[in-house]
Amino acid sequence: MSLNATIRILLALVIIGSAVAAGLTLPIWVAPSSADAGAALFLHYDVDYSAVPSWVRIRDLTLKVRVGRAESVEVIAGGRVIPSEYDPTSGWVMFTTNATRVDIRIVGLATPADQIGEVQKAALRGDKRWAYSLTFDDGRLSVWENGKPLLDRLGYRAGVAIIGEWVLPSGLSLGTCGDSITWRGHPSDDPLCGNNNCGYMNASQVAALLASGWSLYNHGFFHNSPESMPGCEVENIAKCTEALAYAFGGYRTLVYTAYQNSNYLRDLVIANYATLGLPIVQADGGGATAVDNITWNTLPYLRPRFDIGRPRDSRPDTSGAIYYMDDAHQKALNNPTLHFWLSLHGHNVERNDVAGSSLDYLHFTYGPGGSDEVWVAPADEVFQYLATRDYAVVTRAQPRTVTVTARSPVIRQVALRQGWNGYAGAVDTYIDSGQPKRNFNNLGDWAILRVRSPDIRAALLRFDVSSVPANARILRATLGFYVRTHSNEGEIDVAAYTLRRAWNPNEATWERASAAAAWGAPGANSVNGSGRDRDATPTDARSLRRIRYIDVTGEQFLIDDATWYSLDITAAVREWVANPASNFGVVLKGAVGSTEVEIAASESRDVGLRPCLVITYAEPEAPPAALETPTPEPSPAATATGTPTVTPTSTPTPTATPTATPEPTANPTGTPTPTTTPSATPNPPHRLYLPLIGAKHSYPVLR
Ligand SMILES: [Zn+2]
Repeated sequence: MSLNATIRILLALVIIGSAVAAGLTLPIWVAPSSADAGAALFLHYDVDYSAVPSWVRIRDLTLKVRVGRAESVEVIAGGRVIPSEYDPTSGWVMFTTNATRVDIRIVGLATPADQIGEVQKAALRGDKRWAYSLTFDDGRLSVWENGKPLLDRLGYRAGVAIIGEWVLPSGLSLGTCGDSITWRGHPSDDPLCGNNNCGYMNASQVAALLASGWSLYNHGFFHNSPESMPGCEVENIAKCTEALAYAFGGYRTLVYTAYQNSNYLRDLVIANYATLGLPIVQADGGGATAVDNITWNTLPYLRPRFDIGRPRDSRPDTSGAIYYMDDAHQKALNNPTLHFWLSLHGHNVERNDVAGSSLDYLHFTYGPGGSDEVWVAPADEVFQYLATRDYAVVTRAQPRTVTVTARSPVIRQVALRQGWNGYAGAVDTYIDSGQPKRNFNNLGDWAILRVRSPDIRAALLRFDVSSVPANARILRATLGFYVRTHSNEGEIDVAAYTLRRAWNPNEATWERASAAAAWGAPGANSVNGSGRDRDATPTDARSLRRIRYIDVTGEQFLIDDATWYSLDITAAVREWVANPASNFGVVLKGAVGSTEVEIAASESRDVGLRPCLVITYAEPEAPPAALETPTPEPSPAATATGTPTVTPTSTPTPTATPTATPEPTANPTGTPTPTTTPSATPNPPHRLYLPLIGAKHSYPVLR
């Protein structure tokens, strides 16, 4: 669809104008008296948030509207064209907004107008099948040092339970109770600081977590046992909320995370939740629970805090986190009308921690690299969504003038995996210093890549990324790979280096990039000069190990060998998208120790285990196409009667859910499955990501 220059200039002026003078709008479409065949139709909705509880700060709501079969559908909310997902097959459009007014512009409607307009509230944000929240206890330093990078790689955020006294700036009065409790000392001196990952985050590190969208939870002002502070237990909780607000620019936590004597503390908060302002309590409990029928008169809402590394009961060698993720998936599969919420809890985070590998598993099995059925967010965000969902009232509105000032950036995710959604652009092989003249591609049933430390065997991978527009802004690119086995329990650092020389998967050896050309140095190890094979520094590296979980008592559990890992290759993908000729892929190399990992290759029989590159990008900015032609709306009679109202108790119909059909997923037991064929109606390879735009936590830090 071409745009004329006048409209481009007009839009630019509108955007500039609205940036300069907030509130400026330009009436583009004026409500007409009748509808024209072939012209745009409008559906209008009002969203009333007045019944949403005042503690809900994030009022995002995912709505689904039946719009029938049409040429194009645009959603205008708050005067902007916002990202939406229109599925012409089902005839539904989905979008997420916190606007009080929503207008939907439909062009080329091929469905009778009286059959469109039904609106439903999605059970979970983005209409996902289940939600996953991760909470870290105590604000330990290892969460900052190791945990945050593991989550950043995937674009995930979590919550941290903070002990008030450890982030307290000077100047907050502790009151009588504070004076009566023995000061526990500074975090670095604290006896809780065990024999690994010693130490706790300081206030500026906690502030940085907040600034990047993490949430903070109340973990008591003192982490003392309730018995040690008789008569002061409730004040101890209230003081933590106060300390967090004082230290972090008025931040109001919504969650209480119970610690020792969990049930006693849980009951204490339940009895006092209103005065404490804590509508959510995390206490001991089990796995995923349904969230479709929250009972709001039994606040605070209990979330189980189940330890992330706790082994599967019947299989002590298997990660508890992955077990509970599979369980949540299975529950969603078995109960298509219900939606679930899994909330797990961790303490220290090691470099090769179960927190990271289980998140990789989630991302490439149930996240954007897999069935895309899970919403990952801190617990307070999930709960605020549920409250908004149940208390906001959506009604069909009368025809009215529609104004547009701008288009919100559209953020998309594409998952590239050989044989997945028709993608056929991946090649890979490995090279071996012990057999320097041998090529290992096309090994049939083997279909593995080997990486052995220290730089004994290395894997070459390349993905065609031409489906991403060349002028897209790459926000994140994450390479996931499935490790089938580790040769031993040793540690291995695996790093991804951007390759600078063409190689042929059927000819590459340790000595040669192809039949025509040798590597600049054997093993693709020349890092400078005209013979350069790769960059000298990796785009990302991480420690892999047969996952070992150490619980708070020091007991060790060895966890399953086979799982997903990911590396951040954003910098490389930015180059490849902007300049496809520079795309020679990456080489994965091992360092530290003497360990080999076997990685499922792109020829692996199990499509779900093949390497996967998830790219998140912002589409190039474009003016709203709707600005081209101011068009009439449907007649008032079409919308004035039979106004459907979504009541707080309505349950979304799962059959309307575009993403409800689970895709084939990685077999959690690691057993090779014969074939994993995409379903008859695969998810589109490009997925719209409905981002939390802007800072959720815009609280200035005082000191
Ligand atoms: Zn604790």
